[in-house]
Amino acid sequence: MKRIGILGGTFNPIHNGHLAIAQMVAEDFLLDKVIFVPSHVPPHKAAKNLIPAYQRLAMVNLAVKGNSLFTVSDCEIKRSGKSYSIDTVKFLKDQYNPGAKFFFIIGSDMLAKLHTWKEISTLASLVTFIVVSRRGVLNTRAKIKVLYANTIDLEVSSTALRTRLASGKSVKYLLPDNVIAYINKQKFYQ
Ligand code: ATP
Repeated sequence: MKRIGILGGTFNPIHNGHLAIAQMVAEDFLLDKVIFVPSHVPPHKAAKNLIPAYQRLAMVNLAVKGNSLFTVSDCEIKRSGKSYSIDTVKFLKDQYNPGAKFFFIIGSDMLAKLHTWKEISTLASLVTFIVVSRRGVLNTRAKIKVLYANTIDLEVSSTALRTRLASGKSVKYLLPDNVIAYINKQKFYQ
């Protein structure tokens, strides 16, 4: 049976933390594929410096190039409106392989609010959550059954990258070179 991971995020921008957790989790949990799913963020919610959806998607596509374990889905962006993981999981299950086992990868910063996600009990019956330690926090008492990944902590966040980029500093080695080139060309996050 195929084992498929899903990594959702704003990816504003994607960084090596995202890529490294996807790689480590894929290996440790024997996943055949990890699907990166950039979320649609409604324009009225747009925080300062939120890059339009299709350009965040473009950066994710650049970042996963050359890694056959990784793929990208634009389903949340195409669906538009608020992105709910339950809708995404149902869609991806249909689209990819209804018989596959699905895993949903989240950073531990998401764990405290996981029980509030839309239709969480249905969602939890469709996927197994894999929690990756972030900022040294792993074992927040989860109200939902989850598996914990034993990954290396990488303290990089999109917020920290945007801050560095806004002050004209280098972000080399924190995200792929082709994504940095795209950001510079488009003059994002200045
Ligand atoms: P921001 O700083 O803008 O909030 P972010 O770096 O948290 O962004 P997201 O796109 O929101 O990035 O993250 C998508 C998913 O990846 C979330 O589940 C998040 O917890 C996880 N994640 C992001 N960065 C890391 C990291 N360095 N280590 C572990 N998990 C991470």
